[in-house]
Amino acid sequence: MGKSSKDKRDAYYRLAKEQGWRARSAFKLLQLDEEFNLFENVTRVVDLCAAPGSWSQVLSRVLIKGEKFGRSAWQDGEAKLRQQMLGIFTSQTSSPDYEEPQLQAAAEVSQRAPRKDVKIVAIDLQPISPLPGIVTLRADITHPATVPLLLKALDPDYDPTRRSQQASQPVDLVLSDGAPDVTGLHDLDIYVQSQLLFAALNLALCVLKPGGKFVAKIFRGRNVDLLYAQLKIFFERVHVAKPRSSRASSIEAFIVCINFQPPPGFRASLEEPLGVGNRLTKMVEERRKTLPPIAGAVMQNYKTGAWDSAPYVVQAVDEAGIVDLEVEDLTGQKSDDIRWIAPFIACGDLSAFDSDASYQLPENHVSLDPIQPPTAPPYKRAIEMRKAMGGAYGKPVVRG
Ligand code: SAM
Repeated sequence: MGKSSKDKRDAYYRLAKEQGWRARSAFKLLQLDEEFNLFENVTRVVDLCAAPGSWSQVLSRVLIKGEKFGRSAWQDGEAKLRQQMLGIFTSQTSSPDYEEPQLQAAAEVSQRAPRKDVKIVAIDLQPISPLPGIVTLRADITHPATVPLLLKALDPDYDPTRRSQQASQPVDLVLSDGAPDVTGLHDLDIYVQSQLLFAALNLALCVLKPGGKFVAKIFRGRNVDLLYAQLKIFFERVHVAKPRSSRASSIEAFIVCINFQPPPGFRASLEEPLGVGNRLTKMVEERRKTLPPIAGAVMQNYKTGAWDSAPYVVQAVDEAGIVDLEVEDLTGQKSDDIRWIAPFIACGDLSAFDSDASYQLPENHVSLDPIQPPTAPPYKRAIEMRKAMGGAYGKPVVRG
């Protein structure tokens, strides 16, 4: 697909280039923040799976430079009106093209006082081009050796021979946008993604301070409510959120966990990381005992935090009304067989660009180059090997 064609089919790809973001993912984080106020009172952040670095760019601009992004960062006033007139609000893979006025090049940004003592550490398997004020590490988040590396990056006085795997200067927010190379085999992709999520959670448990937040990408599969129950052991509130800039056609969503409250006596352990063995299952059982004895499903009210029973129809409600509806026949379930339903929140204003729609570009549209081309893409080695072989059909180079 050519650059111009991608500009037309992906409004967020085009906006990212126009506003100087390294990836369209920046809008996902901005829209999550709009809903959950993620950056409030936050100065120490770990950004996992961070390359090419658009989330770190957001962190750098909000926390270090003190910028605040308005909604026009991802929408255009006139485009909004036209969308309303054409009624293309609903998520769809194709929608009628319509003419759009010239886009604003700059996001609406207001200035706040920069925060003091900001510390941001970004990690990825791929190299991350430098960003002002951000410590970048090239490491695998699923590898145990990454924990001491991270603790050292957060606190230069950290002694790796010390037994504790808890950060001495704990962090306020852990983000993880990790994604494996998708195979298209849904069950396999969901499984690999869940391993990345558990690795991110294990790191978060080592570095988060009580009251901290954890936000991570998930692929929504059948067992998302089990994952919700597991995360509820550690966080007061857990939501599944879908930013408007994330394609409706994708199984991607984000788990947003607020108010880290580890169970009494809990210690993060590398010897027995969560997601392996039955440590987590036992903890879920313990946590269940503290729930009200209701048969069926329970879910937590999004705003008040209260638990409600929901025997047959489960609905996630926010101030704007019902955002998700799930109907289940749970008749005959035992009262100890309780499913926890994660409130599902669609975030980002409905007038924001629809990531599944195509938009007509103005005649004088100039397609920009991406801000940060991949530094070490997986296909680089394949191209080098092909060159060494003298092109696609060339003779192999005999060495020695
Ligand atoms: N949030 C990033 C941004 O805004 O630029 C985009 C992240 S991209 C969707 C997913 C990243 O996950 C890739 O850069 C990939 O290298 C990284 N990743 C996948 N598995 C990883 C692992 N085991 N350890 C570290 N990073 C990993």
